[in-house]
This record gives sequence, C-alpha cells and structure tokens, in this order.
Amino acid sequence: MRVAVSERRLRVYRTDAVVLNRRDWGEADRLVTLFSPAYGKIRAVAPGARKPQTRKSGHLELFTRGHFVLARGRTFDKITQAETLDYFPNLRANLSSVGRAALVCELVDRFVEEGDENPPLYDLLVRTLGRLNANDAPDVALLFYLSHLLALVGYQPNLFRCAVCGQLLRPADHFFSVEEGSVVCATCGDALPLHSVSLPVLKVLRFLQAEAWPRVRRLRLDTDTYRRAEGLLQAYVAYLLEREPRSVRFLREV
Ligand SMILES: [Zn+2]
Repeated sequence: MRVAVSERRLRVYRTDAVVLNRRDWGEADRLVTLFSPAYGKIRAVAPGARKPQTRKSGHLELFTRGHFVLARGRTFDKITQAETLDYFPNLRANLSSVGRAALVCELVDRFVEEGDENPPLYDLLVRTLGRLNANDAPDVALLFYLSHLLALVGYQPNLFRCAVCGQLLRPADHFFSVEEGSVVCATCGDALPLHSVSLPVLKVLRFLQAEAWPRVRRLRLDTDTYRRAEGLLQAYVAYLLEREPRSVRFLREV
C-alpha cells in the first residue's frame, strides 16, 4: 500500500494494526507497539488506558488486530481511538498458544525498525495469527511463518548452493552456517563447527520456501524432523537477533 507524502504529514491518521507489545507507561497510560501495513511499526501512547473504566484498554490487548486513530506526537504518537477487528480469542486459551503468538509478534517487533513499512509481512502476521487461532496445523504454521518472515526481512536462507565451494548440493546430509545464512556441503563443512542438516530437514525447509500455505498445511512431519527444522530456523533467527527471543525460552518451558 503506498501512502502519499501529504497523507504522511497529516497530524491525525488512521490505520489497521496488530498489537505486538504493550507496557505500563506513567501513572495510567500504556506504551503500545503496533504493526501496520502502511506505516510499519509504530510506538504510541494510549493515554489513560489503565484506568478501569476506560473503553480503550480492551482494544489494546496483545495479539489483537484493530483499527486505530492516532495523532502525531513529538516523541510518541498518541492513540486517540481504538476498535477491535480480530480478538483471536483462542491465542490466549493455553500456554503453548500464548507462546507461539508471543513469538510471532516478538519477531516482527525485533526484525522491523520503526516506520519501515512491509505490507507482505503484515499480511503474513495476520494470517499466521488467524491460523494459530483456528488451530490450523499450528506447528507447521509456525515453521511456515519463520521461513517466510526471514525472506520478507531480507534473510532468506540459501538452501541450494554450498556457501564455501559454490556447488549445487547433491541429495544427502549437509550442514548449515548461520553466519552465512546458507547450506554448506558435506565436504566443505566436515571440519567446521556448523549445524548439521539432514536430507529430510533440507527437503522440508525447501518445501516451506517454495510452496503456498494450502499445500504446506497438509505437510505431515514426524516429531524428529519437525524439531530439527524448527531448531535450525530458530538458531538462525537467534544468530541474526544476536540473542534468543524471550518467547522461545517461554515456549520451551511450557
Ligand atoms: Zn562445498
């Protein structure tokens, strides 16, 4: 979605957005991190949102997609109106759903700078929250999300050519280098401290990259292949972010 320059300068603007994060701010306010299609990540104050009688606070729940009216401010913009579009109630139904949704939102927050618009990433975020809420193959939905998020923020892993010798990989067990964001062939990676990537895992990762959700959701993975594929994507994410996301630790503990 393109926004005209004149519209960007408007003092008041409105947008759909997902609540990625929120924390208490001052006496009765909240500081909310939103992700919107046209304005990217927005940090905004919701004045009075912690007062019990306020109607706004219910529309500022984590993981909620809403419609917001904001006024530009010097440090933070201010949320003047909020209305819920999708509450995604099942995301809060149990700890593993909370953990997955928290990871999905935390990664957008960490990978995206304020003001960087990325409409395809917004679309992926909303669809992923919808899939998790519908309990639509949630494990595979998370893998699909990780794979496509990496591509949309510019870190799509190279799964075809060895980062060292440049050869196309033959169908066999190989390695993955998080520093290179790339596979390394069995010969070149032999003496290096790399993550191993078995042929079944490599096939799953390529399938996630290449296929759309309707085919991916039918993927049936054995637990070991799932764990290894997820572990590899998580290791790459943790390397890029320079530490493991908080919600990954949470997910491991629930
Ligand atoms: Zn090689």
